[in-house]
Amino acid sequence: MTMPEQQTRKTRELVATGQRRYVPNYAPKEMILDRGEGARMWDLDGNEYVDMGAGIGVTSLGHGAPALAEALAAQAGRLWHTSNLYFVEPAVRLAEELCEASFAERVFFCNSGAEANEAAIKLARKHASLRHGPGKREIVTFYGGFHGRTLATVTATAQPKYQEGFEPLPEGFRYCDYNDAAALDDAIGERTCAVLVEPIQGEGGVVPAEAGFLAAVAERCRAHDALLMLDEIQSGLARTGRLFAYEWEDGLVPDVVTIAKALGGGLPIGAMLVGPRAAETLQPGSHGSTFGGNPIAAAVARVVLRTLCSGDLLANVEHQGERLRKRLDALHNEFGFIAEVRGKGLMIGAVLRGEWAGRAGELGELCRRHGVLVLQAGPDVLRFLPPLNITDAELDDGMDRFEVAMREAVDAGTG
Ligand SMILES: *Cc1c(COP(=O)(O)O)cnc(C)c1O
Repeated sequence: MTMPEQQTRKTRELVATGQRRYVPNYAPKEMILDRGEGARMWDLDGNEYVDMGAGIGVTSLGHGAPALAEALAAQAGRLWHTSNLYFVEPAVRLAEELCEASFAERVFFCNSGAEANEAAIKLARKHASLRHGPGKREIVTFYGGFHGRTLATVTATAQPKYQEGFEPLPEGFRYCDYNDAAALDDAIGERTCAVLVEPIQGEGGVVPAEAGFLAAVAERCRAHDALLMLDEIQSGLARTGRLFAYEWEDGLVPDVVTIAKALGGGLPIGAMLVGPRAAETLQPGSHGSTFGGNPIAAAVARVVLRTLCSGDLLANVEHQGERLRKRLDALHNEFGFIAEVRGKGLMIGAVLRGEWAGRAGELGELCRRHGVLVLQAGPDVLRFLPPLNITDAELDDGMDRFEVAMREAVDAGTG
């Protein structure tokens, strides 16, 4: 697989305009993606890519799924927006279906992951202020976590690279080491109103919670009347082979779970799911979102949720997750460039080793030039979040291309 070096004038012009006119906070690849089908995408120049990143875990049912396009078109012909002054059927039904599929009693809809976590942070503070007055305000989060880019969520994100220069940051956050159960005693106490934690840290390098860690967090939360809030924006919605990643920990019942990424199949929608302890906390006037629960996004999300809950889909996640790991293991045995393959289901990180460490970006770009899109999670981890309905043929094709790219990296003496 080789990419034609030739770019059309239109591609060059669009890339140049984007580079000139976007605020330069991103560094997009120099191509223009134009259309997609299943786990494949094509750029304007006709190059084909196997999509092993799904728009950062968003297009979990691939590109152009007919059932999603139908739901979108049907709703687009009825009603686009009403505001939350009124109920609309797609959002009401979606709320009911999310509760039926989970621990939740009530749902708040928003438009992104950061907004869902922002809602959770506000809910936690309000819940504690109603029950305990002003002294119980601290939210505990974990080093290496990622919770979003708004000021409160970037403060919850205990990684200096996301915070530098944006000070003053909101008060009331405390950080703790992930997977260090012994450190919880000290971090979670009388001042704690909630703990916000990812069952698998995504951006932080695809780091799963060790068995028992979330249960230990839950126990400390119960002991101090703090809410257990799980950020499942990346790990949730069948990504790990169960609807929520926390379900892998026996008997765990959260108070709040935030979701977004995969929920709309590519349309922006997020949600905060709330269990009985805090379901009544946010009373009229306390919080809101103009676009939250948008009818089109909700109509599509209902189809997404139904599909993600199906046994066939969950079985495919497990099946393809094992196949992906086998391919990575085989490559590692040949080239020795991976220190560890970690994650669950189709949320997989390959930790780079030795002289490969720190080069995830470089290798990702090489992959792209060989027609496969992979993600990184920090400089040391290649991250795979393919569509959950990816087929044997699509995954094989993607990993064949990955293998060619890795061979080239080895031959070029970069490894
Ligand atoms: C992506 C992500 C977010 C932020 O979601 P946005 O939609 O980008 O605001 C928050 N938490 C986790 C775990 C994520 O992966």
